[in-house]
Amino acid sequence: MTTRLIDDSLFDGADPPRLVGARCTGCGTVVFPRQGSCPRCSDGAMAAHVLPESGEVWSWTVQAFPPREPYRPPADGHRPYAVGYVDLGEVLVEARLDLPRQLIRIGLPVRLTTVPTYCDEDGTQVLTFAFGPDAEDAR
Ligand SMILES: [Zn+2]
Repeated sequence: MTTRLIDDSLFDGADPPRLVGARCTGCGTVVFPRQGSCPRCSDGAMAAHVLPESGEVWSWTVQAFPPREPYRPPADGHRPYAVGYVDLGEVLVEARLDLPRQLIRIGLPVRLTTVPTYCDEDGTQVLTFAFGPDAEDAR
């Protein structure tokens, strides 16, 4: 099956892909997704910044109903999924959590992965970023 990433601007183009945010050259603030100006100061420029691959669950919940666009449900309909903030040390990233719900807890080590979201009209499977078990934590 052909796959593609949901938005190339979120990733670094490597295989496996890593997330790319932006870092302020003035104060060092890191944001994700990228934005053109610093939320903290007016001194710096925002430069592309590859984010760490692993972090910890900071908080989470279950997305029980379909979110607003640009979310697109899979062909067989929306199914509730876990979503949370992952603390990557320099920034909190909102992401799906690709873990069984009973294993998710605040502080759980997690690692970047990709998960299927929906299919394009031509059958291409679209992947989005998520955080799953950290390899060192997988048992
Ligand atoms: Zn700044």
